[in-house]
Amino acid sequence: MSVIVKNLTKIYGNQRAVDDISFTAKPGQILGFLGPNGAGKTTTMKILTCYLSQSEGTATVCGHDVAKDSLEVRRQVGYLPEHNPLYKDMYVREYLRFAASANKIGQPGKRIGELVEMTGLGREAHKQIGALSKGYRQRVGLAQAMLHDPKVLILDEPTSGLDPNQLAEIRALIKELGKEKTVIFSTHIMQEVQALCDRVIIIDRGRLVADDPIETLKRRL
Ligand code: ADP
Ligand code: ADP
Repeated sequence: MSVIVKNLTKIYGNQRAVDDISFTAKPGQILGFLGPNGAGKTTTMKILTCYLSQSEGTATVCGHDVAKDSLEVRRQVGYLPEHNPLYKDMYVREYLRFAASANKIGQPGKRIGELVEMTGLGREAHKQIGALSKGYRQRVGLAQAMLHDPKVLILDEPTSGLDPNQLAEIRALIKELGKEKTVIFSTHIMQEVQALCDRVIIIDRGRLVADDPIETLKRRL
């Protein structure tokens, strides 16, 4: 259930957007990906979810090579993109049913019920997506990412732009998910990794500049 990245590189033109990074993410652990805008976080996450191919290096998800076995990798991975393109005119349950059928999920009604409960969508689940606050839209995105009960969750800036109440609840939800799954999430905010992570990777201009348990990072601050 681990994610193992070795010497991963992504080159755009003459820019090394991701430059020779290696790390491992393990089950029951929340790995934070900390770095400023443009550091290479999204690019790395898109390689791990098979939306982009790498230029060099390797990555495996639960033993499956992202470059060779994208179907199996996608079966193991739930992805919450930073700018999640939700259909604003759809009702929450309708959208989740649509996503479930696109992913050939059996018994979608039951699964959607569980996820509405788990993500705390509650009464908001009866609304149209366009009527939801950012925090509730993130819950829809998390529910969508969880539909096929993936072993690995890859969350791109899941807590950015949330108000304090929503922030606390979404953090708690991610923390809970991290007990069983391998969670990788990105942020440009130090407090987020402090609040959530077991381990932190710091990435800057494509380079990995630190890879430490959270305690080590806290001692340095
Ligand atoms: P982050 O998620 O950390 O903000 P990104 O992975 O989005 O960083 O981007 C890393 C770098 O790669 C940035 O300099 C960005 O402009 C560049 N980049 C990302 N995607 C492309 C692309 N499709 N073509 C060219 N450059 C890209
Ligand atoms: P995010 O905000 O999710 O990190 P970006 O805004 O960096 O994503 O990028 C949005 C899309 O544009 C992505 O598909 C990314 O690969 C692409 N992109 C980002 N930077 C560039 C760039 N400099 N040139 C071309 N495409 C880019």
